[in-house]
Amino acid sequence: MKTTPMSYLHNRAVKLLMLLFLSSFTANTNLGSNLPSTPPIKTSPFNVLSLDGHFEFQDTQRVANDFGNRFRFPPYAVLRPESVSDIAVTLKLVYEMGPSSNLTVAARGHGHSLQGQAQALGGIVIEMESLGSREVRVHVGEFPYIDVSGGELWINVLHESLKQGLAPKSWTDYLHLTVGGTLSNAGVSGQAFRHGPQINNVRGLEIVTAKSGNAGKGEMLNCSPEQNADLFFGALGGLGQFGIITRARINLETAPKMVRWIRVLYSDFSTFTEDQEMLISAKTTFDYIEGFVIINRTGLLNNWRSSFDPEDPLQASKFSSDGQTLYCLEMTKNLNPDKPHITNMEVKALLSRLRYISSTLFQSEVSYVEFLDRVQASEGFRRSQLARNTDLFERLQILDAPRKAMSYSMRTRDTETNE
Ligand SMILES: Cc1cc2nc3c(=O)[nH]c(=O)nc-3n(C[C@H](O)[C@H](O)[C@H](O)COP(=O)(O)OP(=O)(O)OC[C@H]3O[C@@H](n4cnc5c(N)ncnc54)[C@H](O)[C@@H]3O)c2cc1C
Repeated sequence: MKTTPMSYLHNRAVKLLMLLFLSSFTANTNLGSNLPSTPPIKTSPFNVLSLDGHFEFQDTQRVANDFGNRFRFPPYAVLRPESVSDIAVTLKLVYEMGPSSNLTVAARGHGHSLQGQAQALGGIVIEMESLGSREVRVHVGEFPYIDVSGGELWINVLHESLKQGLAPKSWTDYLHLTVGGTLSNAGVSGQAFRHGPQINNVRGLEIVTAKSGNAGKGEMLNCSPEQNADLFFGALGGLGQFGIITRARINLETAPKMVRWIRVLYSDFSTFTEDQEMLISAKTTFDYIEGFVIINRTGLLNNWRSSFDPEDPLQASKFSSDGQTLYCLEMTKNLNPDKPHITNMEVKALLSRLRYISSTLFQSEVSYVEFLDRVQASEGFRRSQLARNTDLFERLQILDAPRKAMSYSMRTRDTETNE
């Protein structure tokens, strides 16, 4: 975006006109007095900003909703930025409009929030994915890292880093979320016991400061633990309240090619948590450890067979999950192709210390990508099954969204085993 003196003067003139308009605007009483008094689209000051991307004022319904399907807040406009400067000039204008406009701005990553966090009623939603994959850069060396856009999906970050045999250290279970979206939360999966959540694995951020009260004027700032540290630590896990993350520098490590993926079941909660705690505190342990609850699932182990091999097929076939509340411990161990026997010995030793139901040990060997992208693969399979009946599919999508959203935290993993 080029802010020429002419466009600046133009913007100023438009702003003046808009303020005159706003002073004569009567708020819609149905919506409440705190709602923004948004200018009509024709004279919208956002319409005349000089941008690389563009604003959309119609067809904004797609960002009025999120994965939770519980809150619906239509925005006034959607910004589809194609440069960081698009975001900066927009936030600057909102700031200059002053608090009386009540105009709020929300960054939207992949829209997988559950409670409307990426929505802005009567405000402006910035669709971060349109910022695109500008200059993805992997830096190899002793402490490798990758520089990516805040609107980039983690699955793409994985594929880009793997080209150098590297990968981020900490993940979410589901990779079709944006870098800015999960860094504004925490980003948690089974690597967090070792590396911390994703926000612990960031070296630096580029941020356009947001309108939060009177702070933030749409300035583009770089921050890290050493530079603008308050902004850096505020933005990480800050739900977009401190600024829009336009770029992130993320730590990488050498990626394994293959992993051993293991699941076992418990019926006693205390035994399950004690074993889990033992594993995460052990010096030599698995590389990924997670637990989840499974309630009253018919044919659970039979379904696991599509992705895993039972250690004892006969006993596994006799196990019934019906009506039971079960606790699943899920683990992976990175495979060292040069020393497979060592991995085998380590896995065996660790499993021998666990008190799971013996007939429920299931294992498989899969590529690192296959393991990390496990949730998407099964979602795709499930959706394709449902798509056979379009009508049913549409109805189930509506019903399914909140359930699936919950399932990531409850870890009800039926969707992950291609059932
Ligand atoms: C199916 C599913 C699986 C999930 N799995 C996991 C999981 O395994 N682990 C986990 O930790 N979480 C998980 N989540 C939760 C998920 O991490 C958060 O909901 C995350 O915020 C979603 O990312 P998103 O890109 O969709 O962000 P959005 O939902 O679009 O945005 C989330 C928040 O971040 C803000 N934001 C978005 N982009 C930016 C940006 N660039 N700069 C500043 N603020 C921004 C938004 O305004 C909003 O407040 C899951 C959610 C779903 C629905």
